[in-house]
Amino acid sequence: MSHTAEIIAVGTELLLGNIANTNAQVLSQSLSGLGVNVFWHTVVGDNPERLAQAVSVARRRADILITTGGLGPTYDDLTKQTICAAFGKPLVFHPDILEDIRDFYTKNLHAPMPENNRQQAELPEGCVIFDNPVGTAPGCVFEAGGVHVLMLPGPPHEMETMLHRWVEPYLRGLSQEVIVSHDIMTFGLGESYVDELLHERMARMENPSLATYAKPCEVRLRATAKAAGVPEAEALLAPVVAQVREALGEYVYGVDVQDLAQVCMEELLKKGLTLSTAESCTGGLVARRITALPGASRVYRGGVVSYWTEVKAAVLGVPQEILDTYGAVSEPTARAMAEGARRVTGAEIGVSVTGVAGPDPDERNNPVGLVFIGLSTPDGTFCRRTVSGRRRRDRIQDLAANHALDMVRRYLTGLRP
Ligand code: ATP
Ligand code: MG
Repeated sequence: MSHTAEIIAVGTELLLGNIANTNAQVLSQSLSGLGVNVFWHTVVGDNPERLAQAVSVARRRADILITTGGLGPTYDDLTKQTICAAFGKPLVFHPDILEDIRDFYTKNLHAPMPENNRQQAELPEGCVIFDNPVGTAPGCVFEAGGVHVLMLPGPPHEMETMLHRWVEPYLRGLSQEVIVSHDIMTFGLGESYVDELLHERMARMENPSLATYAKPCEVRLRATAKAAGVPEAEALLAPVVAQVREALGEYVYGVDVQDLAQVCMEELLKKGLTLSTAESCTGGLVARRITALPGASRVYRGGVVSYWTEVKAAVLGVPQEILDTYGAVSEPTARAMAEGARRVTGAEIGVSVTGVAGPDPDERNNPVGLVFIGLSTPDGTFCRRTVSGRRRRDRIQDLAANHALDMVRRYLTGLRP
C-alpha cells in the first residue's frame, strides 16, 4: 500500500516571508525517494486554533502527517500541545530527557538550562522518541486512528539530522517494498523535445515510472521502480535505462552522475589529461564548476578570465588582426583563446568561452545569447557556435559553461565535439 503524506510547517516567520520553507523541500525530496506520495504542503503560523484546523483537515486526507517547528521552549512553541489535544493524547514528562537537555546546555551552550525547557521533556503518551543530538528539542512519532503523526524541530540542521536518523528508517518500515531510481542526465535537448521523443513510453509506464525534470539548461530523466527487493527493482530498471539511452544517444552524458563537470573530471583522470580554461563572458564559471569538485587539482591546471580584448591579446596571445577583423565574439577568437589557454598553462586541453551575455548587444551588434566555445586538443582545434536567444544574463552564462563542459566531455568520450 502506498502512503500519502502531508507536511505541516509551523511558524509565523514562514507566513511573513522572512524565511523560506526549506524544511518542506528537504522532507519532500526524501519522501519521494522512499515512495511516499506527498500531496500537500501546509504552512500555518504559531497559532493553536489555526494549527488545530490544519491538522483536522490533514488527518482526513493523509495517513502520514509531518510537522516541523514549534517544539522549542518558548511561549509561541505550541505544536506538541496542539497536536496532542487534537489526537486526544496526554503529554507525559520524561525526567531522563530533561537531564539530557540539561547536559546539552552545560556541554554545548556552557550555560545553565532555563527552567522553561522542562516542556521539551514532555512527549505524547506511547510515542517513539527521536533524540536530537544537535539541539535540545526531541521529536517523536505516534500512531492514532491509522494516522502516523511525526513532529520534528524547526531548525533545518536539527530537522535534517532527525530525518536521516529516525524518520527515514521509520517510513521505510511502513512499506514492504523498496524504491530504486536512476537519473539519466542529458544535455543539449530541450525538455519538450525529450518529452516528445519519449512521450509514448512515458505515458504508458507505471512501474518503473519515468519523469523528466528540467534543471537549468539540462534535462534529467528519473526512472523509478518499486519491487520486493533491490535486485528485482534493478531488473525492472535496466531495460528502461537502456531504451532511454538508445532514444537520446549522444545527448546522454551519464547515469547517476552529478553534472557535466564531474563527467569531465572523471574522463580526464581516466585518460591522464589536464584541462585549462580561457573565459570571457562566463567570467570564470567553467573554472568554478571544475574546481568545485574535490580532487580537481589533478586535472585542472588553471585559466584566464580575459574580459578585455587587450587581455585576450596580451595574456592569451590572440592575434591583434583576428580581434580587429572578426571581433572578440567570433569563431577565430574562440579558437585562439583555447589555444592560448593551453600554451599558457601547458595543459593538453584548452576550452574557451566568448559571447554576449547581455542585456545589451555588444559593440559589433552581436545579439544577446550568441556564444562561441573553442576547444583546443592534441587532435586539433574545434569550435561550437550557440545562440540561446534573449534570456537572463546568468542563464546565458550557465548555458555557455555547460556547452564548454559538454564539448570537453564529447571530445574525451570519442564523440564529435
Ligand atoms: P527552537 O527550539 O529553535 O525554538 P522550534 O522547533 O521551536 O525550535 P521554530 O521556533 O519554529 O522551531 O523555528 C526555529 C528556527 O528554525 C526558525 O527561526 C527558522 O530559522 C527555522 N525554521 C523553522 N521552520 C522552518 C522551515 N519550515 N523551513 C526552514 N527553516 C525553518
Ligand atoms: Mg521555537
